[in-house]
Amino acid sequence: MDYKLERERMVATQLEARGISDQRVLAAMRKVPRHLFVEEALQEQAYGDFPLPIGHAQTISQPYMVAEMTQLLEITPDDRVLEIGTGSGYQTAILAELASRVYTIERIRELLIEAKRRLDQLEYFNVVAKCSDGTDGWPEEGPFDAIIVTAGAPHVPEPLKQQLAIGGRLAVPVGDAYSQVLMKITRKEDRFIEIPTGGCRFVKLIGKHGWGD
Ligand code: SAM
Repeated sequence: MDYKLERERMVATQLEARGISDQRVLAAMRKVPRHLFVEEALQEQAYGDFPLPIGHAQTISQPYMVAEMTQLLEITPDDRVLEIGTGSGYQTAILAELASRVYTIERIRELLIEAKRRLDQLEYFNVVAKCSDGTDGWPEEGPFDAIIVTAGAPHVPEPLKQQLAIGGRLAVPVGDAYSQVLMKITRKEDRFIEIPTGGCRFVKLIGKHGWGD
């Protein structure tokens, strides 16, 4: 299978056709080998228009959702980004293409180890990863220019808002266990601006400031 061609096709038919227009995001999606972030038996499906299982009842998100959330974050090359929910590490790699440094947190140790192995192999050396409850954020490394939560929360975790830099952007799905609204929150000098951007469906964000176990 010609995976480079598959990526070109994915970008044209799933992303550009649906309005993703940030050229840096599109370039990252054309470059990162998504098929290397799933198990071998699923590699030929990796560029399909859907999420795929990655074990532990978790998923690698649909390509469009990855692009949509990344575009919302308006990442520039000097940005420091926090990601909650490393999963397969695919979204992490997209962020690592765009930002100066990516801090990523995953609560399932086995997923984190495998994701970090892939990221190291692909030479994403600007990624720092840890296993913990990401709803607490990573206060020692904050504030962050952008924060992305790749699991559905019952409400916006307050520590994540507090770890946004002035001008920083937070993308987080908020809703019930079955459907959420993707929220974009921007921190201004004296307030937070919260904009709902559309519906989505993610696995649960489990933690102190998320869902119970
Ligand atoms: N971005 C990932 C990718 O590209 O493969 C997909 C992430 S998957 C939809 C959501 C991930 O969030 C799961 O791996 C899950 O274990 C993780 N997660 C859920 N609650 C978490 C928490 N409180 N802290 C860190 N990770 C969490």
